[in-house]
Amino acid sequence: MAFTPRIQPITETDEELAAILADPAAELPPILPTLASVLGDQSFLDPELRPDPNAFMEEQGGWTAEQQDRCRELALEGLKRLRDNGKIDRKLSDEERHDIMCWATGADLEGPYVSMLSEELAPGNADLRATQWAKQEVAPDRDFTVAVIGAGMSGILAAYRFKQAGVNVVILEKNDTIGGTWFENTYPGCRVDVSNHVYCYSFMQKHDWPQFHSSQDVLLKYFNDCADEFGVRDLIQFQTEVTSVVWDDVAHTWTLETVTPEGEQRVTVNAVVSAVGQLNRPSYPDIPGRDSFAGETMHSAAWDHDLDLDGKRVAVIGTGCSAVQFIPHVAERASELTIFQRTPPWLMPRPQYQQELPPNLMWLFTHVPEYNNWFRLRLFWRSHEGLLPNLEVDPDWPEDPERSVSAGSEELRQLLTGYLQLEFADRPDLLEKVIPQYTMGAKRFVVDDGTWAKTLKRDDVELCTTGIKEITPTGVTTVDGVSHDVDVIVYGTGFKASEFLTPMKVVGRGGQDLHDVWDGDARAYLGITSPGFPNFFYMYGPNTNIVINGSIIYFSECEAHYITQMVRYLLDNNIDALDVKADVHDRYNDWIDEGNKKMAWGVSKVSSWYKSKGGRVAQNWPYSLIEYWEQTREVNADDYEVIS
Ligand code: NAP
Repeated sequence: MAFTPRIQPITETDEELAAILADPAAELPPILPTLASVLGDQSFLDPELRPDPNAFMEEQGGWTAEQQDRCRELALEGLKRLRDNGKIDRKLSDEERHDIMCWATGADLEGPYVSMLSEELAPGNADLRATQWAKQEVAPDRDFTVAVIGAGMSGILAAYRFKQAGVNVVILEKNDTIGGTWFENTYPGCRVDVSNHVYCYSFMQKHDWPQFHSSQDVLLKYFNDCADEFGVRDLIQFQTEVTSVVWDDVAHTWTLETVTPEGEQRVTVNAVVSAVGQLNRPSYPDIPGRDSFAGETMHSAAWDHDLDLDGKRVAVIGTGCSAVQFIPHVAERASELTIFQRTPPWLMPRPQYQQELPPNLMWLFTHVPEYNNWFRLRLFWRSHEGLLPNLEVDPDWPEDPERSVSAGSEELRQLLTGYLQLEFADRPDLLEKVIPQYTMGAKRFVVDDGTWAKTLKRDDVELCTTGIKEITPTGVTTVDGVSHDVDVIVYGTGFKASEFLTPMKVVGRGGQDLHDVWDGDARAYLGITSPGFPNFFYMYGPNTNIVINGSIIYFSECEAHYITQMVRYLLDNNIDALDVKADVHDRYNDWIDEGNKKMAWGVSKVSSWYKSKGGRVAQNWPYSLIEYWEQTREVNADDYEVIS
């Protein structure tokens, strides 16, 4: 693979190997399943060391010092064998792999879990979610083209899946390069807040991520490398913004109108995949006088690197994930920084957040085949439900739901409040301002390694929690009448997340406009398709965002699988299009709404981008990851009206 070097041979002496394993940074729990797999020897799966899934979050999986020593002994033996004799030269049987997965997760895995986790494990980057059919076999003579809109993480994936099937595909991308959100968000401090070893395609795992949470440039390179590996770069028409997509009721095709440097163009296709993302249209706050400001302004998602902040008085509006990432960097340069916070975020402590991988842990990744896969599997399993159950509303829970929604949520609240109390122990004035008054999970957590408290405590930083009255030519005036004069205003005010697919116009059957149908409250069946818009599919569509469990890439892989299955059905059965039935769609959305109403983000009144303008949760998926995987396995033809 172009982007990840080969696993290096082990040349270390026994003593050096022992020293690597003795380093507390060398994560031990994944190493025994790794050795069992690459040496084909189940004796590494010591029953006394079988991980406790409840202790996954703890250091070294919660093992005692004796257990850790026992693991090191076994691991040393294994590494020596690997060094001296190499990997076994045979494929493990399904039973062997299953046993190792059960041991590694500490769970008795059955049925769909085994298949899903095998796909996620993917040793050797086996692509178990690859498209398993070929157009050449099912419909060799039929002309069929798919247009994918967007060349970000989900767009290049969808295009690759179609390419695997031999379906003609064109990707239309408004920017002049690949990467979507990882191309557009270049603000200082931008990095992924999900562990990088799960924030990557299952079949394009990278064993040498430099950090636990890589920075934007590393991710942008990763997605570019993947596009090259997929061979989809040549399918992309860059600088091509789709302005409208219109269904032809007679020809049963979609026509896309685009704006390109050469002028307006049109392309007609059989199916469309919208992979435009949810978080890429900057949202500016509706604050009176915003346009009157005489100084410079910028938004986190359109960072102006030529704007010199050195020695300037800067105001930042917003304290969401983006702002908390860039504010420490702005503070380093500004002469004075005023942060306008409307709602404090809950901080999720993660000491490794900005750290490089320690050398001995990196050694394991780069020298031990499959260590990366088993490390990822553990992370995936740990986050596959993650903290989700803690955020479910317990109807018998006596507290105000704005405080906590269950015993688990209360416990988490106390834990995270304790973190804030510790971080701000010497600044009671700030502590009062940073403790959220809403139930956790109602907004996205912000990952922190202590940088936030350090920044807010600086002498040249002020955290202002008084509401903003207006923006004037000289700065920001708060409702108490105080004018905060500044040279620059930086908006960390997020995205128009609930305005799915805007500003693109989408016109379906009978001339109906998708935005009129949605009326600001986007819905879809499986988050993938809406009635009246046949063969029009979404990646990262309504209700496919996850709050606290898993990685969005997993969802994209499920969606890409389902969408290609839809096209397969069309080709197999020689039909033009499939339109989801309204009652199927409505029932599905009732079920989604029921689920969301039982979650912290559904009951809380706090503002968040999870909700549409009417207050319905239009973004989030309220159920488990396996449920989405199961729902997107196969197309149920009964759910659809056939158009021929
Ligand atoms: P966001 O979470 O929507 O935060 C917007 C911030 O602006 C909030 O603090 C909000 O306050 C504030 N705000 C909005 N309008 C305001 C107004 N009129 N007056 C005062 N304050 C106002 O946006 P974001 O931080 O860009 O993050 C969006 C999402 O992108 C994240 O939740 C995450 O999913 C994703 N993201 C991910 C990463 C990552 O992985 N590293 C990084 C950045 C973003 P309120 O809270 O009171 O509304």
